[in-house]
This record gives sequence, structure tokens and C-alpha cells, in this order.
Amino acid sequence: MKSPIWHPFTQMKTSPEPLKVLSGKGIWLELEDGRQIMDLISSWWVNIHGHSRPEIAKAIYDQAQTLEHVIFAGFTHDPAEQIAARLIPHLPESVNRVFFSDNGSTAVEVALKMAWQYWRNRDEAGRNKFIAFEGSYHGDTVGAMSAGSRSIFSRVFDELMFDVDYVSFPATFNGDDKVGKKEGESLAEIARLLDQNPERYAGVIIEPLVQGAGGMRMCRPEFLQKLSKLVRETGTLLIYDEVMTGFGRTGDWFASVKSRTRPDLMCLSKGLTGGFMPLSVTACSNEIYEAFLSDDPVKTLYHGHSYTANPLGCAAALASLSLLENNPGVFQDMQAHHQTFAAVLAGNHVVNRVRVCGTIIAMDIATGEEEGYLNRVSEYIKKQGLEKKMLLRPLGDTLYLMPPYCITIEELQTAYDGILEILAGLKA
Ligand SMILES: *Cc1c(COP(=O)(O)O)cnc(C)c1O
Repeated sequence: MKSPIWHPFTQMKTSPEPLKVLSGKGIWLELEDGRQIMDLISSWWVNIHGHSRPEIAKAIYDQAQTLEHVIFAGFTHDPAEQIAARLIPHLPESVNRVFFSDNGSTAVEVALKMAWQYWRNRDEAGRNKFIAFEGSYHGDTVGAMSAGSRSIFSRVFDELMFDVDYVSFPATFNGDDKVGKKEGESLAEIARLLDQNPERYAGVIIEPLVQGAGGMRMCRPEFLQKLSKLVRETGTLLIYDEVMTGFGRTGDWFASVKSRTRPDLMCLSKGLTGGFMPLSVTACSNEIYEAFLSDDPVKTLYHGHSYTANPLGCAAALASLSLLENNPGVFQDMQAHHQTFAAVLAGNHVVNRVRVCGTIIAMDIATGEEEGYLNRVSEYIKKQGLEKKMLLRPLGDTLYLMPPYCITIEELQTAYDGILEILAGLKA
């Protein structure tokens, strides 16, 4: 019998049967047919320490025998208190309050609702619009989707979404000589919006340093510095969606830390538990937090989820954080290897716009077709990858690697060689 399961982001009519995974160890996945493949995209960017990492598995097991879950309104527990206390010192100084939810989209929903209500609690209800970036992705629930760029994913829901003002994202790459100009244009667009309507905007939301689902588009830390200065001067809120960039992905603890910028709100999820449990955090400034303190019940943040601050998730997050603290080199060192490979790719005629940020390397494949998510080269590369024991999932014509940090130099080299072979096949 065919499975009754409906898979995410999948056209069930035409897509091949899903591959059954029996187990995972480190970067390797074992399939039912006996094949071993390298998980080079960290299972949709969540897995940072490799699969079945014993330290995290044990932490979850121990926690499950003590307290698996408890209501989080009116109650608290040690795993949540500890992860909050240990996470905050790693975050930019501007954020020091944490609110838990259970995935990246809800972390964004919470940030948007906090920003929105913050202004209402301060009697500035005129601030009723957000600024977002072209090419951005903030999740799939309706609010998070509204904040993201309109795309093939969201088009059918257009009338359901709230309006956002979009500005251009100064995507850059190795050897880009127009980056300064693009940054200037983007900042000018934002300045124009903020100047025309200084009391209109509730916040500016951005995926700092790397736009993930939009095609691994990267911007410079300098841009974030100028952006944060501009946003600060005009008095609106800066929201960092670090759901993907958090926990070492960009080569530093967070994109905000790497760029030395200070958002008012920050969303974290994917790497938070090392890829073991669904959990997320929306961190905010004390100023935002205090705007909700009141004797008037209407000023309460009426938001929560059944599994808010799930103790198993918090235990996994604590174990994951310890692994990162004990060896930050795992995420700091990968960029140099990626840059060496980027230099190899520089002369390759089927590759455009090679770019690297921390543990991520991305490139656009030159095809005769239209660029973007529906480009068919992705299916070809996925198939070729599997034949070479590599789990790759290009975003349309954007091919990227985002491996778990435990990948060895030899395994990384195998992945680079595999990519070169796939690219050579494209030339023919
Ligand atoms: C994946 C992602 C989200 C959504 O997270 P989910 O856990 O898939 O809901 C939001 N923002 C960014 C930047 C992401 O990469």
C-alpha cells in the first residue's frame, strides 16, 4: 500500500518515492537499500553536530526520565531556566529576555507580534507596517509568510497575507565590484521609506548575513552596521531572523555577533537543539519586555504554544550549547576550506557568483533556463549527488553546502570533488 503521508514542499503526483532512512551517524545517513549518504545540508540546516550525537541523545533520555513536559504558564523548570541563562551571554547585549516557542516560523510570528504590540502598548498604533527584504524567507505560517518575499511558495495565498514594504537586498559574492553601490541603493530605499513616514513602521526584519531559502544570498557585515544605525536613528525596531544563521553557521556564534550589530528582537531555532528537538527562542530587549508590564491585562503578550519550552528540547539545547562552547573551532574553521574551494571554482564556466559565509558555500549554476527555484538543474544535481553518496538539495539553480560541523576535512574534500564532477557533467 502506498503511504498515506503528505510530504512538505513536495508535489506528491510527480516526485519520486521518498528514500527511507534507517539511521544516522555523524554526517552519514543509512538508507533502507543499504546506501550510505553524506548529509551535506544538515537535514534542512538544523543538524550542527552530526546525527545521533550521543551527548545530546543522553541529555534527552535523562531529561525524559525526570520531566518530559509541563505547562509553561504559571510554571517553570530547570532546563528552561538554564538554557535562558546560558544562551543570553552569547547573544548581543541588546537582547536579554527570551520567549520560547517550537519552530522557526513561530519564533518569527512571536517577534512580529511583540513588535506590533510594543507600539500599541506605547500608544503608537500608527506604526502598522513592516519593512522586509526582497528574497527573504521567514517561515511558512501566514504571518511569517507575509513578512517574507512573495514567491512561488506564497503566491496562492496572496490575498490572505498582510502587506509589507520591500527593499532590495545587496546580495554579494566573491569578486563582486558593485557591492558598495548595491548597499547604498538598498540603504537609500530604506531611508526614503523611513523619512517619508517616520511614524509608520513597526520594524525592519532581515535574515542577517545570509538569506537562506531565498537562495543563500549573502550580504556584508558593513551593510548590517549601516542598516542598524539607520534603523536606530529613525526609532523603529530591528528584527533579526537568525533561525538559520544562528549557532555558528556564519562562522561566529550569531550573525549579529559576527557583524557587531544589535537587534531589538532576534529569532532562533534551527541549530538550537543541535537538530534533535523542535524548539525556538524569540529574544528581545529589556525595553520591549518592559512595555508589556502593566496592570492593564490588555497589555499582556497573549501568545503561547502547548509545547512552549519543552524540557526535552531545552535539555537537547543545553547539550548542544556545551558542545559548541567546548569546541567553537568546529564552526570557525570551515570557512577557510570553503574559500580554498571557491578559488578552485572561480574559473569554472558553469558557475556564477560563488560566495562563502562561515560554514556555508553557495554558487549559482549557469543554465540556459530562467534563474530561480523552478530551475530544473536542481533535480539533476540532486540525482547526481545521490549517485555520489551526497545529499544535496539545490534551491533551484543555487547549489550550496551547509554541512554539520563534525564533517572531517577528508569528507569535505570528497564533497568538493563530487561537486566538481557534477559540474563537469553539466558542461558536456
Ligand atoms: C527555516 C527558516 C524559518 C522557518 O523555520 P521553521 O522551523 O521551518 O518553521 C524562518 N526563518 C528562516 C531564516 C529560516 O531559514
